[in-house]
Amino acid sequence: MRTLKTAREIPIGALITEAGNSKDYKTGDWRSMKPIWHEEGCVHCLMCWVFCPDVSIKVENGKMVGIDYDHCKGCGICARECPRKEKALEMVKE
Ligand code: SF4
Ligand code: SF4
Repeated sequence: MRTLKTAREIPIGALITEAGNSKDYKTGDWRSMKPIWHEEGCVHCLMCWVFCPDVSIKVENGKMVGIDYDHCKGCGICARECPRKEKALEMVKE
């Protein structure tokens, strides 16, 4: 389990001291909507992966395999851009 840094351990505002550290923060915590993936309707075009601003579409061997809910903020861009719409990606309340 990750322990939170104290005020004295946090770097001075806006400094990024570790590249890629955003993966350590579960930014999906404040999501109010979430995408549900329907595998049977997906054609693995990966448009959702291209457009997701939070790199939350999981891909293995060139195919979509799921959604990283730890970091998905529920913006709905993936569902909007999916050519299969509700057949493959559906937005629901958290
Ligand atoms: S955009 Fe839609 S059809 Fe394409 S990979 Fe994503 S969920 Fe599947
Ligand atoms: S809802 Fe937004 S953040 Fe979540 S997977 Fe879709 S595009 Fe990415």
